[in-house]
Amino acid sequence: AAMRKERIDKTKTVCTYCGVGCSFDVWTKGREVLKIEPQPGSPANDISTCVKGKFGWDYVNSDERLTKPLVREGDHFKEVDWDTALEFIEREMTKLKVENGPDSLAFISSSKATNEESFVMQKFARQVIGTNNIDNCSRYCQTPATKGLFRTVGHGGDSGSIDDIASAQLVITIGSNTAESHPVLASRIKRSQKLYGQKLFVFDIRKHEMARRADEFFSNHPGSDLVWISAVTKYIIDQGWHDRTFIDEWVNGFSSYYQSLEPFTLKYASGVTGFSEDTLKQIAKSISSAETVSICWAMGVTQHQQGSDTSTAISNLLLATGNYRKNGAGAYPLRGHNNVQGCSDFGSMPNFLPGYELITDDDARGRYENLWGVELSREIGKDNHQMIKAIHDGNVKGMFVLGEDTGVVDSNINYVTEAFEKLDFFVVQDLFLTKTAEYADVVLPACSSLEKEGTFTNTERRIQRLYRAMEPLEETKPDWEILTLLARRFGYDWEYQHPEQIMEEAAFLTPLFAGVTYNRLEGYKSLQWPVAPDGTDTPLLFTDGFPFEDSKANFFEISYQMDYSTNEEFDLHVNNGRLLEHFHEGNMTYKSPGITRKTPNAFVEVSPELAEERGVQEGALVRLTSPAGVATTEVHITDRVKGKELYLPLNDNGKSAVNFLTDNSVDKDTNTPAYKEIAVKMDVLKKK
Ligand code: SF4
Repeated sequence: AAMRKERIDKTKTVCTYCGVGCSFDVWTKGREVLKIEPQPGSPANDISTCVKGKFGWDYVNSDERLTKPLVREGDHFKEVDWDTALEFIEREMTKLKVENGPDSLAFISSSKATNEESFVMQKFARQVIGTNNIDNCSRYCQTPATKGLFRTVGHGGDSGSIDDIASAQLVITIGSNTAESHPVLASRIKRSQKLYGQKLFVFDIRKHEMARRADEFFSNHPGSDLVWISAVTKYIIDQGWHDRTFIDEWVNGFSSYYQSLEPFTLKYASGVTGFSEDTLKQIAKSISSAETVSICWAMGVTQHQQGSDTSTAISNLLLATGNYRKNGAGAYPLRGHNNVQGCSDFGSMPNFLPGYELITDDDARGRYENLWGVELSREIGKDNHQMIKAIHDGNVKGMFVLGEDTGVVDSNINYVTEAFEKLDFFVVQDLFLTKTAEYADVVLPACSSLEKEGTFTNTERRIQRLYRAMEPLEETKPDWEILTLLARRFGYDWEYQHPEQIMEEAAFLTPLFAGVTYNRLEGYKSLQWPVAPDGTDTPLLFTDGFPFEDSKANFFEISYQMDYSTNEEFDLHVNNGRLLEHFHEGNMTYKSPGITRKTPNAFVEVSPELAEERGVQEGALVRLTSPAGVATTEVHITDRVKGKELYLPLNDNGKSAVNFLTDNSVDKDTNTPAYKEIAVKMDVLKKK
């Protein structure tokens, strides 16, 4: 150990902060992180990283890290040893399972943990407990995008690679604050604009950095994306500008789909979106005349009551214009967390086994039952949103949350934390004593990505390995190891000594990952799923057709029903999103003093017009009230927002103002909270 302290080690790892999936060498001396060094040829990022990937590592050695298991004693926690904690969990969970059935327990997995950890978490829920009540945080973000893609093209992932976005003739971003949320990807677009004359169209309600850089910035009314997309698609078809050859050969359902577009006239769309008819025509012309179009979208699309439908509309447009099956084209839902793609891919979902095989599919389930030696439940489980409701209703009594600060990031958090208080038994496994963990009966100390091995899958379906750069801190353990120890307590002979064995099992069970091996992922090597048994991977999807019986994609009919608007009392619309410097609830990035100094507090962006109308100045203190709750925050006046629209960053050092305001409304197809549909009133507490 003394020798090791003296030595500088360089270890390949993958960034834990966003779905771009930058990989780099981390230089360490003992536990000290010295620097981050991207390698030429890193698949997603080459030699680039952003501020989070470069400097966001202080959390690994933070004093606030949990170091020992904790068990609740009255209103405080007591440190215990691992045996005591695991035995307690086994006893309490068994009791709930015996008394109330396996579905009285629910599990939330983490998009910050590895693929292997998602796999064992769903295995624990399904095999050991016997429930499909397992979900992950993509329910808060990109599940609607996955839904839209499943309906139309059959794979819930980016159609191609970041290289394809960079080589498209026209890139369109919708509801994506790309420069702050996916910085290295945004740089690729900026470079292509400069070097190859790539065109960038940005659709958003807020004028963020990419909007300023766009060739065209289109700012429509909140929640109206479905309408302009459908109207533009209709106009393209009406003009005969659609790709007939592609549709004939590759897509089912054209005529009934076309009929379903009838309401989306230019006049109607203009009224709903605020775009002029000429603008809509110009958009249609640009899209249909570009050789290749890649559409990127994010939470601005998905976190609405029609998030799945809007994602579907995007895919319909791409199908109508033949923008699948070729480089530079396709659908790119930009994944937020570093492993939000992988966490769902590896089965932490209530309806899907790993590799998106339905739990109700007897063949697929049978494969797992044979290997695992138990009969699995064929009942679709509860998603995150349904779990919280079921706790309130008394149907879920025990919960296990791994690496997720549900009590901060879920919508309507007053309602969520009230649910936590009702639980009979609550386990949280994390690096920190998060807001959520404060409600737990047992808290298990997990270790960070630098202290373990495994794989992450980035937004382009790229599976990459991370290696252990340092020993786990004190008594912390990797999530997969904790779950393995726990399963053994329940009498299941999980023999994993290393995550590689977990991947072997996943590859054996799952056609999507059939050829994934650690060997093929060594160092900076990577694989984009689906991976054939011989190791051939798939940078560009659908070249052999779409994964349906007749190899054809489907147009999917949708209509527009808007259930949200501001009103006389709640007269302001709140938008929300990330800040460049911070990651999500901020449990990790706020541990970096350098980053925190730069952006210490939460604030609300107010337009100059509104500031004048309400007589507030920069730094004024306001109270925002929605039907669900109240948040108090400082005013920042900027023309990034206009009129009666406010912008509230969701990273606010654990104070989570946004989610005191969000309510229980959800995307009707996936139960993803409609975070982007908040109407508030603003009271001025201090004008400054
Ligand atoms: Fe990490 Fe994303 Fe920044 Fe890359 S772009 S360094 S993956 S946060």
